Amino acid sequence: MAYKISDLKTDYQSDWCPGCGDFGILNAIMSALVDLQLDLNKVVLVSGIGCSGKTPHYINTSGIHTLHGRDIPFASGIKLANPELTVIVTGGDGNTYGIGAGHFLNAGRRNIDITCLVFNNGVYGLTKGQASPTLKLGMKTKSLPLPNINEAINPLVVAISCGYTFVARSYAYDVKHLKEIIKQAILHKGLSLVDILQPCPSYNDIHTKEYFEEVVNNSKRIYKLEETGYDGEVKDPNNNEEIQQKLLQAIAKSQEWGEKIPIGVFYKINLPTLTDRLKERYKKDINPSKDNIEQNGKPTTDISKLIEEIEVKRYIRG
Ligand code: SF4
Ligand code: MG
Repeated sequence: MAYKISDLKTDYQSDWCPGCGDFGILNAIMSALVDLQLDLNKVVLVSGIGCSGKTPHYINTSGIHTLHGRDIPFASGIKLANPELTVIVTGGDGNTYGIGAGHFLNAGRRNIDITCLVFNNGVYGLTKGQASPTLKLGMKTKSLPLPNINEAINPLVVAISCGYTFVARSYAYDVKHLKEIIKQAILHKGLSLVDILQPCPSYNDIHTKEYFEEVVNNSKRIYKLEETGYDGEVKDPNNNEEIQQKLLQAIAKSQEWGEKIPIGVFYKINLPTLTDRLKERYKKDINPSKDNIEQNGKPTTDISKLIEEIEVKRYIRG
């Protein structure tokens, strides 16, 4: 029988602040799962530390709340162990683009088939609003004693340049749009980033709901790429000219910020995933979760030689 949003709710009481954009994201993730009707036994949510880290607590699927910046490696391991799972990362901007930046970059090289949702509010919300890597130079939120002295990174450009094959941005309070983008990201075969503009009313008084939705030049500051005829999808992954054109177009479009802020799919290409490459190398499907690891109560693998090799030698001085 089809499941509904109420079936996805857990008993945990949310401790997010009133008005937090995280509520919109939670709603969009649950709505996307309901629309897709994925087997909930095969959906895993993985989070790092931060306010966004609570997300797996509130959705009735398998989930793990890991360490700061370590959600992508956990998610990669889960996907490698069982490629049949749908693995969704829910991390914050400080978690993903700051502390976990090395993992964020290197996941791109692998094109592993997981979906990264980044709750981007420009601050480290859980620790009282320090500037995160996406807060722009010179900005002074109410949580900072002085204007931010560092430049910001552009996560979309980083993702595009290090190999993410689906790169999108959405907005926490446009749940309908966000839901559709999350669905596309989940269905995309390869590594997806959805950078989500997420108001944090407690610590970021610049990027507020009012700011994002303000009418500038007769239309909302936030606008949808798909309504402008923009098409970020590479239709022929063997056509280098088309790839270059789409890459440059996405990088240029992602720089647009100020009077107008675009949301939507900036870049998309279908390329072999890490699972495909492993299959090609070993000429068979690789799914360790199906390996027989025990027979008659004994492990099928003899690790005694390995233990001999890693035996710790004791050296006594004198
Ligand atoms: Fe949301 Fe900010 Fe409160 Fe965290 S600190 S729950 S991001 S409003
Ligand atoms: Mg943050």
